[in-house]
Amino acid sequence: MNPIPIEQAEIHITDISRFKKCRLRWHFSSNLRLNMEPDAPPRALWLGIGVHEGLAAYYDAYKVGGDMTDMCLSTFEEWVKASVEEIRLEYPSLDSERLDAFTEDEDLGLGMLEHYCAWAPTVDDFEVIDTEQSISIPNFIHLEGKGMKVIDEYGVRFLTTIGYKGRGDMLVRAKHDGQYWIYEHKTARVIETERLILEEQPGVYQWAMAKKHDVPVVGTRFNFLRKKVPTVPSIVKSGGRFSAIAIDTTYEAYMAALVDAEFDPMDPTYLEVLEGLKAKGNTFFYREDVVRSQKELEVLIGFLKSAGREMCMNPVIYPAPDFMACKMCPFQGPCIAMHDGSDWKYILQDRYRIRKPDAEVVGPELQDTASVL
Ligand code: SF4
Repeated sequence: MNPIPIEQAEIHITDISRFKKCRLRWHFSSNLRLNMEPDAPPRALWLGIGVHEGLAAYYDAYKVGGDMTDMCLSTFEEWVKASVEEIRLEYPSLDSERLDAFTEDEDLGLGMLEHYCAWAPTVDDFEVIDTEQSISIPNFIHLEGKGMKVIDEYGVRFLTTIGYKGRGDMLVRAKHDGQYWIYEHKTARVIETERLILEEQPGVYQWAMAKKHDVPVVGTRFNFLRKKVPTVPSIVKSGGRFSAIAIDTTYEAYMAALVDAEFDPMDPTYLEVLEGLKAKGNTFFYREDVVRSQKELEVLIGFLKSAGREMCMNPVIYPAPDFMACKMCPFQGPCIAMHDGSDWKYILQDRYRIRKPDAEVVGPELQDTASVL
């Protein structure tokens, strides 16, 4: 195998995850291998990254004492502006449909964050210690034998230790009992809470933050934001009243709509809806705790080190077809070409490019194939 640039010789959690799922996909995309990405505007992860930026600014403002909502929304809007400008420059032939999709996502992101800024003060009971921290763990893995071949300005050499680079969303201390927790923001169309214990990134962050601050960190609080804003009830033209059809909304949004339309909230029909919404609570946000002991974290870190070591020791590459994974895989094109004997290298050169340094990855990095040119 050819040597890789020394600055690419680091272990990332998303890379470990890709390696474990499909080595061929990993080989195409990993910073330790070909380091490629589709030559297409990043639609699938775009909104999630922007919302993370807004949330980081929101909690940063808590630390420095600024206007949290203002910081959150203005940071998101500035990020959108800069990001869309960059995409326009990189993809001058982008059609208006694609540009409109970014505008739709921007509106959705702003709506989600405005809603979050109104909701969070009613539930947040902590002091913010760290936000959006990059973590760097030198000598994370030790390699046997000669090590991994890298190249820098002095030539080719071998590394026998490789560091870990990652990030986490936030470390907080609960006001009521003083316990430390990792916060992990997640945006999703549907909130799924099964198997959160298997999420590796927050586990590493918990492990690293406990070491950095020299405090016990109890676990991770997953902070879900549904990719949706509350629906505003519509008025039935014939009756001059709100439609009786059930809608996906909140008590606050429904009450505000009643006030706006100058309808009486004590009207029995509206009262019933309001009582139902109050009983259901806000379904647009959800928090779930996953406690992990130091022992559990050591087990996780051991698994990650084993996978990282394998990744650095020139492993055999083969595909791992799986219906769902292949459907979402951005490297379907070259993979299928490799299977049917056509020129997969040409496809790779033509439709993919070398990953930009510091490209942000948030979440499980699933890309809808429809979003890949
Ligand atoms: S299409 Fe499936 S088998 Fe091929 S690289 Fe992607 S995930 Fe792996």
